[in-house]
Amino acid sequence: MGTRFRVHPQAPFIPGYEEPEIIWISTPPGGVGTGPEDHRMYVTDPLIAKAPYQRPYFPPYTGESYPPAEPGPDGHFDYIPVHTRQFMAAHAFACVRRVLDICESYVGCEIPWFFLPTYERLEIIPHLPWTNAQSGYGFLELGEDDSRDEPVPYALNFDVIAHETGHLVLFGTLGVPERSGPGVEYLAYHEFAADFISLIGLLHFDTALDRMLRRTNGNLFVSNELDRVAELFDERQIRKASNSLKLSDVGSEVHDLSRPFTGAMFDALLEIFQLILLERGLASLDTRRIKSVRESLTQTDIDRELAVSKQDYQIRHFAVKSALQEARDIVGDALLRSWELLTPDTLSFRNAASAIVRRMEQGRGHRFADRIHDNFVWRDIL
Ligand SMILES: [Zn+2]
Repeated sequence: MGTRFRVHPQAPFIPGYEEPEIIWISTPPGGVGTGPEDHRMYVTDPLIAKAPYQRPYFPPYTGESYPPAEPGPDGHFDYIPVHTRQFMAAHAFACVRRVLDICESYVGCEIPWFFLPTYERLEIIPHLPWTNAQSGYGFLELGEDDSRDEPVPYALNFDVIAHETGHLVLFGTLGVPERSGPGVEYLAYHEFAADFISLIGLLHFDTALDRMLRRTNGNLFVSNELDRVAELFDERQIRKASNSLKLSDVGSEVHDLSRPFTGAMFDALLEIFQLILLERGLASLDTRRIKSVRESLTQTDIDRELAVSKQDYQIRHFAVKSALQEARDIVGDALLRSWELLTPDTLSFRNAASAIVRRMEQGRGHRFADRIHDNFVWRDIL
């Protein structure tokens, strides 16, 4: 069935996420060894203050390391106490493995590392005295968040690890530009993809889905339209993804430039969620009647929708959650499978967005392809 670990779906200082939850990764018990390590990746936790990898320094790390995390007698890692070095190592490993599992389940095959055959496996460094995180040629390494009173290792932060894994997944699926240096849209698209994979990863945690839906009575969409979403949610991925920026509103800095693309996909995800609720008789708001969800939704629409769902949300929770999972998978599937249609040398926002729309038209969410298209148009991307 796989191997058990414990993971915080969001950084443990975020209210509601203090306790890690049990997850399964696809590698069978016995297949994950001391480190942890399996056939795709291994953790090594340097005893010294290793500098971040940077040309000409690349893996493997060959110095001394802290004692590794070991599997329990049953082959699982969920027994390791939190606040230990070994928990940190196991947590980082499990987050990377989990995101890889999720992405591979959308494309239906193993996603190769882009650094093959130089390195067979990814090296994960769970802790460096550094205030950043990075993934690159053969490695993923994590520093710590120093914005709080006590530094918090990024090894405990699913959001950051999933983002870095997202870069590796995109490189592995789409490839690396060969003819010329990467253009600014290529780099911005990478940031979007990494953020969106992190968001899709978050939406695979029961605790995160339950928490977000119960807190908003299932009205993610309406909250989004009011642009109150950043205030309502502690989940960092959602704070980043909900924005009203069009392409003409942002500069050429890659993180900035990625935001309209992320916003378009996030709005499409929420709109598809809303339409699935409508199809299933769980909501009354038909967003197809509205020209632009960010501009034309009226207070009357919102009040009506809130009134409908507030009364009986508790008894509809699991039905609403299932609609959100379906929307997540429709969008995740279209995104991951759109990369087969693209080449890194010719990638632009325009053809990346067109490829997503095309995959929507061909896939399980074909009835919503126009929704994703319209959101890209509103952002000036298509
Ligand atoms: Zn990034």
